[in-house]
Amino acid sequence: MTEIRISGGALHDPANEVDGDVRDVCLRDGKVVDDVGPGARRIDARGMVVMAGGVDIHAHIAGPKVNAARKLSPEERRGDPLDRTDVLRSGTGGLVPSTFATGYRYSLLGYTTVVEAAAPPLAARHVLAELRDTPLIDKAFLILMGNNQVLFELIRESRAAGGTGSERIKDAIAWWLDATGGYGVKLVNPGGVELWKQSGGVIESLDEEVAGFGVTPREVIEAIGGAVDDLGLPHPVHVHANNLGVPGNADTTLETMRTLSGRQAHFAHVQFHSYGGEPGGLPRSRAPELLDHLRDHPEITADVGQVMFGPAMTMTADAHVSAVLRDLGADKWLNHDTEVETGCGIVPYTYKAGNYVHALQWGIGLELLLLGQNPWQVMLSTDHPNGGSFLSYPKLIRLLMDRAFREDQIGRANQRAVRRTALLDGLDREYTINEIAIITRAAPARRLGLRDKGHLGIGADADVTIYHDRADREDMFATPRYVIKGGEVVVEEGELLRPDDGVLLSSHAAFDPEVSGVLEPLFGDRYTVAFEHYPVRDPALREPARVVEAAGS
Ligand SMILES: [Zn+2]
Repeated sequence: MTEIRISGGALHDPANEVDGDVRDVCLRDGKVVDDVGPGARRIDARGMVVMAGGVDIHAHIAGPKVNAARKLSPEERRGDPLDRTDVLRSGTGGLVPSTFATGYRYSLLGYTTVVEAAAPPLAARHVLAELRDTPLIDKAFLILMGNNQVLFELIRESRAAGGTGSERIKDAIAWWLDATGGYGVKLVNPGGVELWKQSGGVIESLDEEVAGFGVTPREVIEAIGGAVDDLGLPHPVHVHANNLGVPGNADTTLETMRTLSGRQAHFAHVQFHSYGGEPGGLPRSRAPELLDHLRDHPEITADVGQVMFGPAMTMTADAHVSAVLRDLGADKWLNHDTEVETGCGIVPYTYKAGNYVHALQWGIGLELLLLGQNPWQVMLSTDHPNGGSFLSYPKLIRLLMDRAFREDQIGRANQRAVRRTALLDGLDREYTINEIAIITRAAPARRLGLRDKGHLGIGADADVTIYHDRADREDMFATPRYVIKGGEVVVEEGELLRPDDGVLLSSHAAFDPEVSGVLEPLFGDRYTVAFEHYPVRDPALREPARVVEAAGS
């Protein structure tokens, strides 16, 4: 039994309203406890900053699209090899690291929990297998439900029955989480992926019918968002809205938020959904309007999806977006159709400071983070690796904490773009350490419904990151002094000490088992996979897991 006393550090635990107080943190049996015995290991944290481990609410780290991106970037495999050591396995880095390297590098950054934000349920085996090979972090994945033909059928039947079919949709979603080990439900361009797959068309309005399926994006958003809310899943519906990247898409985003109004919902990478202008023209920023809406709707949260200048790897279930990037002159493009569930596109991409659109995207992300008044509502993400690698989080943190650094970086970006944001309006905000703790762990953990994570109160998981309190915030957050996972010290001064496994986080909601009888014939009509072979039952993939029960309606 390892006992640890972290002594003398400045504790930043905003979930428990602790803001830099010097106090000890005691750990035993993987939990924060009120005291430990005299024989406990003592970590001298005087002059250091102590926080809960980081929680990434939206990243892409496992599954077929991630693996395809690895194959699409052999130069990155050659360019960043990790050698095997006595403790660690070999691997490759780059924007899309191999599984083991992903766990190592998140851990070296002080992150202890990561959500894979877009898994086709049909690929759950692959996702689980890769997550099992991703050590040192606890992990969860969200299943893609916004373009599933079987759910379209249930939604259409429910409407035909005057809305009385909503129980069946709830049962189906709960069944799907049970069948896959998923944690939450993701909508990506609801209805629009299927529309593009069928006809090459794009969604013009939330009330436009997905041709041939008799449902509209608004009906999909209402039915699935409502079902997730009614089920009381620990994480609300996670929405990648229609029209990502399209000038003028702020209208779509706001309309989607209004459609879910009163329901709990999380909007992913809102930077990509906050544009003014007209389709086909140049975008401008409408971030302040989005923030006004969030201010008035505390039931909605978001992560920012910041773009960072430099290389990125775009990978999305929103296959149409990848086709647009191809048309903009991408060297490589991969499109993949996941049967009747979703699509997928991958394009390696570079964000350039001198490019008007890229600089505007960068500026809009910073506006969302700097103009918003409630850090619990807009969380840090780069939509890794879409806007940039998770390894760029320390630089993003420095942009938020260090005005002089930010102004230097603004000066290097396309000036026509930054003039069309609020960044040149004397924006003097500098995030405090506590605000960074909110957007990187406390708020994501709370939004994920992970009560034992994101804070260091008694009973919390013993996931702790200890940083040198350095003036260079990028350096500080890039190289924690210690990282403790599940009560064991796993990183010291940039060195990984042990490659412990993390736990799979799943959620569970009760459902009527009779739903199988409804789903089986619908599967038989559409899927290439037999219904009885679809659920993942292999304990090697599913266990050990921590299952979070839904609150129920
Ligand atoms: Zn994403």
